[in-house]
Amino acid sequence: MINNKNMKRTKIVATLGPASSSPEVIEGMIKAGADVCRINFSHGAYDKVEEQIKTIREINKKLGTHTAILADLQGPKLRIGVVENNHVELVDGKEVIITTVECMGTAERLYITYPQFPKDVRVGENILIDDGKLLLETVSTNGTDEVRAIVRHGGILSSKKGVNLPNTKVSLPCLTEKDLKDLDFALRQKVDWIGLSFVRSAADIIELKHLIKNFDPNIRSRVVAKIEKPEAILDIDNIIRETDALMVARGDLGVEVPMQEVPVLQKMMVKKCLEHSKPVIIATQMMESMITNISPSRAEVNDVANSVMDGADAVMLSGETSVGNHPIKVVEAMTKIIDHVEANSDIYNRDSEAPEVDLRNERFLSDSICFTAAKMAQRTKAAAVVTMTHSGYTAFKLASHRPKADIFVFTDNYDILTTLNLVWGVRGFYYDKNISTDHTIADIKHILKKSGMVKINDLVINIASIPLSEMGKANMIKLSAVE
Ligand code: PEP
Repeated sequence: MINNKNMKRTKIVATLGPASSSPEVIEGMIKAGADVCRINFSHGAYDKVEEQIKTIREINKKLGTHTAILADLQGPKLRIGVVENNHVELVDGKEVIITTVECMGTAERLYITYPQFPKDVRVGENILIDDGKLLLETVSTNGTDEVRAIVRHGGILSSKKGVNLPNTKVSLPCLTEKDLKDLDFALRQKVDWIGLSFVRSAADIIELKHLIKNFDPNIRSRVVAKIEKPEAILDIDNIIRETDALMVARGDLGVEVPMQEVPVLQKMMVKKCLEHSKPVIIATQMMESMITNISPSRAEVNDVANSVMDGADAVMLSGETSVGNHPIKVVEAMTKIIDHVEANSDIYNRDSEAPEVDLRNERFLSDSICFTAAKMAQRTKAAAVVTMTHSGYTAFKLASHRPKADIFVFTDNYDILTTLNLVWGVRGFYYDKNISTDHTIADIKHILKKSGMVKINDLVINIASIPLSEMGKANMIKLSAVE
């Protein structure tokens, strides 16, 4: 059973790909500490994705885990097409034609998945490929279907790599035709989280949420806003208000804004997300060297550790698990780093003062209950805070206070269990009995004791809504000892 007493609090998102599509590797990564599997819709065919989703759900049944599924939409991301042998060398000083007419890419001619590119790009502008590893400079454009560029910093290019045009206003909608198809597929698959790349403003999130609601008003899929554009930084408060979670997508962000700004932006976004109880994922190049090596660099260990100390809900692996040589080992290494930081640094009880109380806020009661429960847990050194939730609201809220006590979430809403697996510290249990508050609290404590999560004399704080049968908002706290 994966749900054990000493489980780490900070979650791991593992991206699936050719190196990690088999049931054996997916199971190995989950056992090693992966909490969320990310499916990158920039690559991969629907039948393969469907198979991966089926596999994750079967493993969840087998292991009793709640691994979440994050479907990551490409958004208005510019990409190079497929290249010959998946391996083309761009040589410094040589000219390359970038065309909007689909072709097999070579060192002389590359296809770009962006029809307006020759109209939007200006002479002298830089074209960055593969997270800025390759640099080209625009020499001319015919304004319709071809751009000539000179290679300023060459190297090996593989298929479908991303392209960034810093300072260029990209005239693409936030959801492309491909995204709309991918979204429809992902919603049919009932995934937990939908990631939207290249968010430019809160309006993009509102539009995506509107589409999700139109698909099915009762759907539970939630939205992750990927922050990788300077425009998004300017609208960050509104984006955090509208989204359900955030991803600091450092790969593209570090190309779109000067790289030295990324660490400060990361800390700013984590802080704001904690204040708004929105989960935040730190992504890209966290353990990059483990794509080939069997251990991470010291700087990578520090990066993961510092992200945990910043207060991230989750840290993400991309190429490390999707195409790397050691998809299971890299999750194991990340888990070790997280475990050590969580045991040896003071990342808990983050808010020293009570947040402003807004009596007009319809969530005022549950917010106060969650804040007080977290404070009470700190004062009494309680072993656990237990919440009963149908919507998941109190789980998000409680977690954002980062209590040192374990957070156990009991719900009759099976679907929310996987959604909450992204959230810091949350461990979910399915529970559908509904006899009385007293009975339920005693029963839950018994379940936790039986499964080794708490022991006799441990203090436990229960949050619930009374009367239980009305399934209303949290309005009750109980502090008691395990008997
Ligand atoms: C990123 O740019 O950091 C990122 C996570 O995006 P992608 O989906 O391209 O991996």
